[in-house]
Amino acid sequence: MIIQRVVLNSRPGKNGVPVAENFQLEQRTIADTVQAGQVRVKTLYLSVDPYMRCRMNEDTGSDYLRPWQLSEVADGGGIGVVEESKHDNFTKGDFVTSFTWPWQTVAILDGSLLQKLVPQLVNGRLSYFLGAAGITGLTALLGIREKGHVAAGANQTMVVSGAAGACGSLAGQIGRLEGCSRVVGIAGTDEKCSILVQEMGFDAAINYKKGDVAKRLRELCPNGVDVYFDNVGGDISDTVISQMNQNSHIILCGQISQYNKDVPYPPPLPPDIEKIQKERNITRERFLVLNYMDKQEASVLQLCQWIQEGKLKVRETVVEGLENIGAAFQSMMSGGNIGKQIVSVSK
Ligand code: NAP
Repeated sequence: MIIQRVVLNSRPGKNGVPVAENFQLEQRTIADTVQAGQVRVKTLYLSVDPYMRCRMNEDTGSDYLRPWQLSEVADGGGIGVVEESKHDNFTKGDFVTSFTWPWQTVAILDGSLLQKLVPQLVNGRLSYFLGAAGITGLTALLGIREKGHVAAGANQTMVVSGAAGACGSLAGQIGRLEGCSRVVGIAGTDEKCSILVQEMGFDAAINYKKGDVAKRLRELCPNGVDVYFDNVGGDISDTVISQMNQNSHIILCGQISQYNKDVPYPPPLPPDIEKIQKERNITRERFLVLNYMDKQEASVLQLCQWIQEGKLKVRETVVEGLENIGAAFQSMMSGGNIGKQIVSVSK
């Protein structure tokens, strides 16, 4: 059987900006027969995520992420439909997902790598299992619950950076649902800021590419910042940390502004900001959602319930076609997405 797949064509280098041409579409022949324990799946949706930037390096700098190999198929979160199964857990027509889904149109996968999906949980919006009802939603929810110290009635102000992205747009809404009284987002365009306020219930949003972020933060967070959901690191985070209260908390979700730089993770704070962090007893512990997978099932159910109740508004940026996955990745890394970046492979 002839399929299409996307391989890593070149590495951007640790300090380089990734481009679509780092990936290449090619045709391949795969076996026609499915062996015992295997499942043949047709790919429906693939996820592109910032962590993939590390996988483009020869050394990911992380013990839980494998580098992609040149000329070999890339992989990540994916969703598909079972076409043929020789695994007891799956039958033809089942919708399934995996964290290690190959970037190809059809694949024969080991059934033990797959989880079955229930489309009704997300009102039939299957791709949500890669975002709001998947790892992204879990990251926002568990980041807040494990590291945010949010308490209903405590009158806390939360600031979210990367706020119009996949994690950020959910984090602000969940911060409110969990009890924050004020939620302010930081994002890269006026359109994103307006969506955050008008659709997602943020109290205010700051376009960090325009104007003085420190001044706007002082105006919009008159009682200081109690919880900071940090997706970006760098200058934006230094500015937010400078306005954080005594005994406040950083949820160290990600540091996307540093991913094209050869620096350790998490990158150390500049000395003056580290001094503020220490003097004000601001927590900044590493958070990795994969360390909380024992809470996955209950947390996904919570996210699905909020989605069904309309309490969690979901945005996706969907790019059509496997051949466009490299361009989708490049675009997301430079701010082209609102909400979760998804690639739709076949209908
Ligand atoms: P995302 O926010 O949907 O996509 C990236 C966004 O980041 C872009 O749209 C862009 O929006 C912003 N951005 C890019 N470069 C930037 C820069 N130099 N400075 C400021 N903002 C920049 O991605 P996501 O999937 O939600 O991931 C967000 C963060 O969470 C990433 O750092 C990711 O690694 C992390 N993450 C962590 C875990 C965990 O377990 N800890 C799990 C999942 C994801 P603008 O227009 O606003 O610039």
